[in-house]
Amino acid sequence: MQTVTILGATGSIGVNTIDVINRHPDKFRVFALTGHRQIDKLIALAEVTNPRYVVVSDEDAFAKAKQVLSKSNCKAELLVGNEALNDVCRAAEVDTVMSAIVGAAGLLPTMAAVKAGKTVLLANKESLVMSGEIFIDAVNEFGASLLPIDSEHNAIFQCLPRDYQYGKVAEHGISKILLTGSGGPFIGLNAEELSEVTPEQACAHPNWDMGQKISVDSASMMNKGLEFIEAKWLFGLKEKDIEVVLHPQSTIHSMVQYLDGSVIAQMGNPDMRTPIAYGLSYPKRISSGVEPLDFSTLKDFTFSQPTKEKYPNLYLCIEACKQGQSATTRLNAANEVAVDAFLRKEITFTDIAKVNQTVLETIPCSKMTSIQQILEHDALARASANTVIRALS
Ligand code: NDP
Ligand code: MG
Repeated sequence: MQTVTILGATGSIGVNTIDVINRHPDKFRVFALTGHRQIDKLIALAEVTNPRYVVVSDEDAFAKAKQVLSKSNCKAELLVGNEALNDVCRAAEVDTVMSAIVGAAGLLPTMAAVKAGKTVLLANKESLVMSGEIFIDAVNEFGASLLPIDSEHNAIFQCLPRDYQYGKVAEHGISKILLTGSGGPFIGLNAEELSEVTPEQACAHPNWDMGQKISVDSASMMNKGLEFIEAKWLFGLKEKDIEVVLHPQSTIHSMVQYLDGSVIAQMGNPDMRTPIAYGLSYPKRISSGVEPLDFSTLKDFTFSQPTKEKYPNLYLCIEACKQGQSATTRLNAANEVAVDAFLRKEITFTDIAKVNQTVLETIPCSKMTSIQQILEHDALARASANTVIRALS
């Protein structure tokens, strides 16, 4: 029996994780569920998973949570605030933490799980983008197990040799990691049309059903850029080892190309329950509820290259990746602020890349050796992004 804490239980990944867990009551027990503002949903999920704790990170939502919980048939204890997020990650009873809070807010609780030596199922790519080397060093120092949930990285993980040693690309006969991306809902639009798209259109991804922030990131391919950085840290890669390939059908989730000409791909229907189930059951396989691929109806596997003109955010991420830790931290922070402003209709879709580029270029790089420094750099970049947004809107 594995005991699991789910950070961000009320989100898209959180709900999919609960769906997989509920299919296997003999294998998993929920220790804690966390949510931020969706209180009714959090308590409803607690009613079906029976956790020991429910955590509400937004302190303003505590009174409502207390009231809703008291009217439910859930026996869980209610905790509140950010420190409680850390507590339910490092508790002795917990084996596995699903890290599925969106954005930089996921960094500290995920680090708490790492430092407690837990098995960490990482969906929250932003925490690795921000803290890369420090995060991986902590995984090694504290003996945590890190398993990628992001579908591309889960695919790469499945296509790498079982005995893959971190960073030993050439030694394993690997020539390239092929990171696939759908190109998002605007793949057919030109630059002018892109400046007029609405948040509703950006959030309507053709293949995946996801939270708002990652949906906008997918449309701008910032998500693929964040994943480029994520892949670098997860597998110890250099920039030259990774190639981004557009594959609009989202059936191949990524590939590993070997020196002998072989390419190993992981395929499946675009449903996050597959990588979530693999993370939960690794190295075994369990059912996930995902429909099997039907090869009698599959057709039109297409591939192309993403251009810099169309997807500037992807190339900003690759550039930041070369510059190092502080550059990826501030680009991530700028993007979170810019996406938020786009969702509130304060800036246009194409302004997101302008904000990101300005923040990346105006704040100088500095060496990051602690989480504290990373958080300070993140705050600096957020302030700078807000200044750029005020000038644009
Ligand atoms: P959602 O927006 O659907 O969910 C986000 C979760 O984080 C919710 O539980 C939300 O709580 C919580 N949350 C929001 N802000 C805070 C905060 N400040 N402090 C604590 N908790 C907070 O996101 P997704 O599930 O789509 O994505 C989650 C993570 O997984 C992201 O990092 C994303 O990049 C990654 N990911 C997602 C994929 C997907 O298919 N959705 C695929 C691959 C990676 P509440 O709703 O209660 O306010
Ligand atoms: Mg992904």
